[in-house]
Amino acid sequence: MARDLDKERGGRTQTGADPAPAPAAAPHGNGEAPAAQSPLALPAAATPSMAQFLELKAAHRDCLLFYRMGDFYELFFEDAVAAAHALGIVLTKRGKHLGNDIPMCGVPVHRAEEYLQRLIRQGFRVAVCEQLEDPVEARKRGSKAVVRRDVVRLLTPGTLTEDSLLDAKARNYLTALFDGPRSGAGPPTALALASLDISTGECEVGEVPASDLPGEIVRLSPSEVIAADRLLADDGVRQWLAVAGATATPVAAASFDSLAGERLLKARLGVADLEAFGPFSRGELAAVGALLKYVELTQIGKAPSLRPPHRATPANRLVIDAASRASLEMLRSLSGAREGSLLHAIDRTVTGPGARELAGRLSSPLRDPAAIAARLDAVSVLYENEPLRGDLRRSLRAAPDIARALSRLALQRGGPRDLAAVRDGLAAARQCGLLLNDAARGIGLPQALAGIAQRLVACGGELAELLTRALVDDPAHQRRDGGFVRAGFRPDLDAARGLRDDSRKVMAALEAKYVQETGIRSLKVRHNNILGFYIEVSAAQAKPLSSGPLALVFRHRQTMAGTLRFTTAELVEIESRIVTSADRALALEQEVFAELAAQVAALAHAVGTVAAALAELDCETGLAEVAAEQGYVRPHLDASTTFEIRGGRHAVVEQALRAAKSGAFIDNDCVLSAAGPEMCTGIDEVRQARLWLVTGPNMAGKSTFLRQNALIAVLAQMGSFVPARSASIGIVDRLFSRVGAADDLARGRSTFMVEMVETAAILNQATSRSLVILDEIGRGTATFDGLSIAWAVVEHLHEVNRCRALFATHYHELTALADRLSEVANVTMQVREWRDAIVFLHKVTPGAADRSYGIQVGKLAGLPKAVTARAQEVLALLEKTQGKAPDGEALLADLPLFAAARAASHTPTAGAPSPLEDALRALRPDELTPKAALEALYRLKELAGTDA
Ligand code: ADP
Repeated sequence: MARDLDKERGGRTQTGADPAPAPAAAPHGNGEAPAAQSPLALPAAATPSMAQFLELKAAHRDCLLFYRMGDFYELFFEDAVAAAHALGIVLTKRGKHLGNDIPMCGVPVHRAEEYLQRLIRQGFRVAVCEQLEDPVEARKRGSKAVVRRDVVRLLTPGTLTEDSLLDAKARNYLTALFDGPRSGAGPPTALALASLDISTGECEVGEVPASDLPGEIVRLSPSEVIAADRLLADDGVRQWLAVAGATATPVAAASFDSLAGERLLKARLGVADLEAFGPFSRGELAAVGALLKYVELTQIGKAPSLRPPHRATPANRLVIDAASRASLEMLRSLSGAREGSLLHAIDRTVTGPGARELAGRLSSPLRDPAAIAARLDAVSVLYENEPLRGDLRRSLRAAPDIARALSRLALQRGGPRDLAAVRDGLAAARQCGLLLNDAARGIGLPQALAGIAQRLVACGGELAELLTRALVDDPAHQRRDGGFVRAGFRPDLDAARGLRDDSRKVMAALEAKYVQETGIRSLKVRHNNILGFYIEVSAAQAKPLSSGPLALVFRHRQTMAGTLRFTTAELVEIESRIVTSADRALALEQEVFAELAAQVAALAHAVGTVAAALAELDCETGLAEVAAEQGYVRPHLDASTTFEIRGGRHAVVEQALRAAKSGAFIDNDCVLSAAGPEMCTGIDEVRQARLWLVTGPNMAGKSTFLRQNALIAVLAQMGSFVPARSASIGIVDRLFSRVGAADDLARGRSTFMVEMVETAAILNQATSRSLVILDEIGRGTATFDGLSIAWAVVEHLHEVNRCRALFATHYHELTALADRLSEVANVTMQVREWRDAIVFLHKVTPGAADRSYGIQVGKLAGLPKAVTARAQEVLALLEKTQGKAPDGEALLADLPLFAAARAASHTPTAGAPSPLEDALRALRPDELTPKAALEALYRLKELAGTDA
């Protein structure tokens, strides 16, 4: 293969689409390098090209090596086997190494992104190796010289920048996780996290107590987490990374160096001091250090854009643990889809960056009333001023994703379309700025919007003006395609293009001239990559060109089946003019591109500021839009511990009911506050209390009611209007939600175990400022166990945590607690019995449910009549015993066993064959006359107890 490696792709031996053997280099998302295979050892006698390949591969053992050869990326050895298997492409072979065939597969360069996307999704890391010089250049060094190649980039899930590899509406965080410095030998008490989306430069740093790590990982939802081996070996960490869908990549513990982190961060931000960005702990700086080092490693020295890091700490955010995030279906529904989530219900943004900003705000609601009020002020103005909102949304729609374009340009991966994105984004920003300033003249702008208006024009007008002059309206994706510079921008480019295009016209004229001179009407001037331009005539008509005077002008070049190809001195001369002028035009365009990219890079910070302002504006305009469309109100937030929602609704269920035309959503009040001198909540007869016990049959709407209040708190603290008539909320520090029971089989725990683990977390962490939503605690065990646990949990919440809480239960016995605990009130979901059926009114009313209506619900669900009737009988007996659990004996003794008795005639007792089976067995079909067969059939039907 040695010699073959540098040959153009072409002479490949196809072995067919044989299913590749199991990949040797399995997806190594966890960073384990595939075992060094002996074929990859560098033999002493290796040829230069083989040595080059093996050396590059040896430096990137944990990656698939995409090895550029002409128009293809080729993969060899076990990489080829793994990639062919993962991509379902043909595995071929090429040459021999150490006496064995070398497996090979490849993907065309122009379709590489599509294949890379599939490999990254499957957990592979890919090293992209490019040709760093033209093969022509290499040949100048001698016929055996190898084309210079090197790896220019590693692709990993957390370091992607291409739009086709990314979700436009979601951040793509790479997160470094650090569990030091530690004080003792025990488990870490706190962990530092540093996250960077290299596709936008967004950066976030923070520290959390170890117990909050799962919630933090789910909040950040990184695509890739880097950490020291020791930390990744921890079962809990590994599991939570898997739950969040993050690839875990081990890095050397030594790269978590706080001094290096500080130095790198200062250098990248171009500042001498980090003070302006807040005090960073040593742990945070160590995480930043590992993060930036890994970015350098994967980007091979190129520096992506980096925005000043923002700090997220439990002190300035509403803390929501992982289980609550999942159960509240904040960003994804329980099935993992965006549809059905709160985010989907409130997302009215019109740009990718706006959608990312919204998701970021939703997953990190705030805690500072002033910061929340500032956001709400902005939403208010946009809510009230409908024409302004409409105009802004129209302008925003035209704004491309500047942040991602900017990042690609910074990494020298950008194309003309990225420059155009900056141009169009800046224009949209200017337009939005004008609209806001116009509005300001009438109504004045709240601080947040005034700040946005100012930042929208942070870049000045020159860059946008330059890009507008320089670029065509709709440029191509790739810079190598050319054609993106507007005519009139550079005179020398116009001249080269003129010559090139002129020459093409000349070529057409030449063809016409030759047709005339030779009299051959089918004569054509054609082009291919091997011959360049040539003259083609059919063999039958070629005679005049091969002999006589014309043969002096037309030189024969090639004979094909049915045609002959010629050239002329004139053709050669024109061809060289075309090639030179086209090359020159392309080279000049590359120059223009480099100049424009440099101009953008020089203003990268200002452009980034504009991009962030556009994202915020889209997010806030979208929140105002959904508020207006869905009838949301501005919540009031303060430092009290009140929670007073009037006419609250569930944002997601409400929209789902409307879409399905299944009737209106019934709104409900929820008032949780410490008992004060005023003992009335305003809801008839519900006394003031911090904890509401919610009873009612299944399907009555308990879960919906619980969740809607948690979601209203989340929406309010992220700075959104809320689905309610009014809402007044004392800032919540932690939100817990334990709704519904689901086995967590993936993590090997039963429903009850999960329930208890999560309940324990709540009881250990909830403070008097927390909001706790508990649904059906204690359902997963025996009745009395469950009731006792639920009872004790309510007491603990009431006496120790003293938080605001909603507790839904089917244990009616619990409602007695309201008489014993001063801060507990009973409410129930109203139901009506109508004839034999039950109607859910979905209305929260004072008091406790008198019974659970389980049998009526069973009827609604279509249980067979015999079963519901039987259940009624059992229930009647149980009610007679008044709560004392009757033992099985008593049940058997007291209940008429009619169902069993009736069944006995045709239900076989275990072991003994039934009369039907006996009869069947006795039948000898071969000996039966048709008449006897018919009679036997009737008898069998009779035995089976069905009508003939
Ligand atoms: P529970 O928890 O009591 O079993 P759910 O909260 O799951 O009941 O509600 C069952 C169904 O009733 C929901 O899927 C929804 O369609 C409907 N529902 C619940 N609350 C309301 C409401 N306030 N208005 C209208 N429909 C509701």
